[in-house]
Amino acid sequence: MSIAQNIERITTQLPEGVKLVAVSKFHPVERLLEAYNAGQRIFGENRAQELAAKAPQMPADIEWHFIGHLQKNKVRMIMPWVSTIQSIDSTQLLQLVNKEAARIDRHINVLLQLHVAKEQTKSGFSVNEILEAAVEGAFNNLSNVTIAGVMAMATFTDDLDQVASEFELVYNTFLTLRDKYFANNPAFKEISMGMSDDWPVAVEHGATLVRIGTDIFGQREY
Ligand SMILES: *Cc1c(COP(=O)(O)O)cnc(C)c1O
Repeated sequence: MSIAQNIERITTQLPEGVKLVAVSKFHPVERLLEAYNAGQRIFGENRAQELAAKAPQMPADIEWHFIGHLQKNKVRMIMPWVSTIQSIDSTQLLQLVNKEAARIDRHINVLLQLHVAKEQTKSGFSVNEILEAAVEGAFNNLSNVTIAGVMAMATFTDDLDQVASEFELVYNTFLTLRDKYFANNPAFKEISMGMSDDWPVAVEHGATLVRIGTDIFGQREY
């Protein structure tokens, strides 16, 4: 199947309102252009250098989402290009992103990354940490970022019941945050979850953004 066929197959299965993020990490810009020419406009990258290298070579109407662990010294590198940073995993990073966006007079969207998977290597706020941060007001008074929702990754496992329970926890945490702390922020509406192996489960549990790489572009060559 071609990239265009894969995108067509996936997008026809996504319910109305669920958007596809094409995760293009490790693939060359020629492959990204194939996806672009098939109508894809949202691309996700997880390494700052790679995003900053590819974005200038691609059409300007692309929405670039950063989805990987973001080191503080790389924020400045991606800031001119990103529309959304999905992987905000600490309040310090959030403050810095706001400051760097202000510095170049940009306004960007961010998602708060929740850690619900079993692997300790994955990053993000625990459910308790995110609620504590909300109570402390860490998500208020940010001039140059809009907090647009949450992002999460499930445990890497074949056990789809486990995956489903993690997505449900993400969904419920999203609802709590929205109703208690973002009631006056209609932009807080996105739930980014689901990858090549589990996106149908994520969609069943309320995902509004799915991040799919392999199922569009094939295996990555590292
Ligand atoms: C690589 C990656 C994806 C896509 O993974 P696939 O299994 O190739 O679909 C999604 N989300 C994040 C955060 C990733 O790093």
